[in-house]
Amino acid sequence: MEIKRKKTRVINVGSVKIGGSNPIVVQSMTKSKLKNKTAIIKEINELTNVGSEIIRIAIPEEESIYQLKSLIDEGVFKVPVVADIHFDYNLALKSLDIGADCVRINPGNIGYMDRVSKIIKKAKDKKAAIRIGVNSGSIEKRILKKNNGNIVDSMVESVLKYVRFFENHDFYNFKVSAKASSVLDTVNVYEKISDKIDYPLHLGVTEAGPLFRGSIKSALGLGILLSKGIGDTIRVSITGKSSIEVKAAYTILNNLNLRKRGVDIVSCPTCGRTEVDLYSIVSEVENIASDIKKPLKLAVMGCIVNGPGEAKDADLGIAFGNEKAALFIKGKVLKRVKNDIIIDEFEKELNKLIKGDL
Ligand code: SF4
Repeated sequence: MEIKRKKTRVINVGSVKIGGSNPIVVQSMTKSKLKNKTAIIKEINELTNVGSEIIRIAIPEEESIYQLKSLIDEGVFKVPVVADIHFDYNLALKSLDIGADCVRINPGNIGYMDRVSKIIKKAKDKKAAIRIGVNSGSIEKRILKKNNGNIVDSMVESVLKYVRFFENHDFYNFKVSAKASSVLDTVNVYEKISDKIDYPLHLGVTEAGPLFRGSIKSALGLGILLSKGIGDTIRVSITGKSSIEVKAAYTILNNLNLRKRGVDIVSCPTCGRTEVDLYSIVSEVENIASDIKKPLKLAVMGCIVNGPGEAKDADLGIAFGNEKAALFIKGKVLKRVKNDIIIDEFEKELNKLIKGDL
């Protein structure tokens, strides 16, 4: 099945194009404090290495502007940077002045619309982008009341109001997000918005939760929308490491055939036929493969009976037996070696695959 993406306008966030037929952009947000320079640089580098194509940074106070400026001036960012602003429109203006490629604002919490006008004017002058970010937790009370407390309708109304406002300022280089912490509300809101506007949509399930639950919620919410062709850039939010968010985002996109990056690991659930500690072996394989950028399918199967057959599409796989394990490529057995040395053999063949020798 091929997903037909909804046609959206193309916008520029620094060097990255979002929307139209451009690949769905993966982005993330740093969690380290800007004042902890060593930690924030480490995190930015990690995010870039795992494929975050845009990095967003919270700008909570005036000092953050100087800290962000020094990172920009020192060339720390290899990808566009988005300044995340709440309440204080001056911080948005200053972020754009020091070279942020985009600011994320929720016009509702900037307060007065004349302040939003100033941000729009500045973004226009700087050829920067704006993300209109409406969140279920911060809807204007007046709009919420008008919609009898209906979150979805209130979010849609807020978004449309801000979009028209931006258009009235002749500013079109913006994208829109409307995140709710409920998966169904998120899906509902984005579907409605996507029917009404053609600006690129930034998808996310906000405050999705810890790793296990957050990944499932994000995969559900984003997966449903992406499968309907909705979404031009995504961020997975997890209470955990930001690099994991990026890996989760690629896993979602890979499984929908929307992007190809990194490995897919096929592993069996184990059963009474399994003779090895497959849980720890799979973790080891995950570790070995965690930094691979090339799209590869790896398989780790608990028995030789079903292993090669079940993983016949895998580029490289292992199927364990009582004492020996089979190493196979594209479902065909390459060699059989003792269980305790199979991982070394696997790693060797994997390196050949990465280099393109196989
Ligand atoms: S691959 Fe073999 S060990 Fe794994 S679940 Fe299937 S039958 Fe059981």
